[in-house]
Amino acid sequence: MPIYEYQCQSCGHEMEALQKMNDPALSECPECNQPELKKLISAGGFQVKASSGFESGFKCAANEPLSPACGTGACPACE
Ligand SMILES: [Zn+2]
Repeated sequence: MPIYEYQCQSCGHEMEALQKMNDPALSECPECNQPELKKLISAGGFQVKASSGFESGFKCAANEPLSPACGTGACPACE
């Protein structure tokens, strides 16, 4: 599962969430309870997260072996 980063537009709280690709985006901030969370697109963060997912036995239905896209959200077959 890809890891998404969110930042609250109301209080600035940052968090990460493990979500399936077709899960709805989170919106409510756990800090201030405002529906102001915004998903961050962070290429650098994704690189680090992708390699850690890769090393921890990330499963992908389409790529055998895993491609670099697996775990980043760029591979549509990843769970
Ligand atoms: Zn907040």
